[in-house]
Amino acid sequence: MIEQTLVLIKPDGVQRGLIGEILKRFEQRGLKIVGMKMVQASANQATEHYGEEIAEKYGKKVLDYLVDFVTSTPVIAIVIQGSSAIATVRKIVGATYPGEADLGTIRGDFNHTSKVYAKKNDQGHNLIHASESEEAAKRELALWFSIDEIHDYKLSHEEHIL
Ligand code: GDP
Repeated sequence: MIEQTLVLIKPDGVQRGLIGEILKRFEQRGLKIVGMKMVQASANQATEHYGEEIAEKYGKKVLDYLVDFVTSTPVIAIVIQGSSAIATVRKIVGATYPGEADLGTIRGDFNHTSKVYAKKNDQGHNLIHASESEEAAKRELALWFSIDEIHDYKLSHEEHIL
């Protein structure tokens, strides 16, 4: 099924100069970028994005931490479209904690947890957000993009990969 999903390159990904590397991973898999922009998110937007789910899962402290982090400097917001895009993107991104993410995934390949973040006990810096379900994708896409910012076009190799 053709799906759309939201990806954010978080402030650490932008600051580490990994925008191109990260986009490449999605493009080389044949996924289509149908929307993209740099956004300085507000605290309201970030709180709505992570919402009560994160507070329930990890506690209010982590939610506050994440909102501060995601609003600290701009993020790149991307709409990715393709066959089973939601699950495929999560596979490409890898497990939540970079030190535990498989090699070959973005979080695994660009992990520097052991060098830096272990000291700070900082689990939030994992480069990327990617919607985790159809319901989350729908909600998050509406939070970050208006309809006219999502585009329709054909990749030149689309016939072979979708
Ligand atoms: P994801 O879907 O893999 O991004 O993971 P979750 O939805 O479970 O968590 C959302 C985000 O919360 C993660 O991407 C991390 O940035 C952050 N996070 C998860 N666990 C922790 C933690 O223990 N401490 C901190 N500071 N952030 C965390």
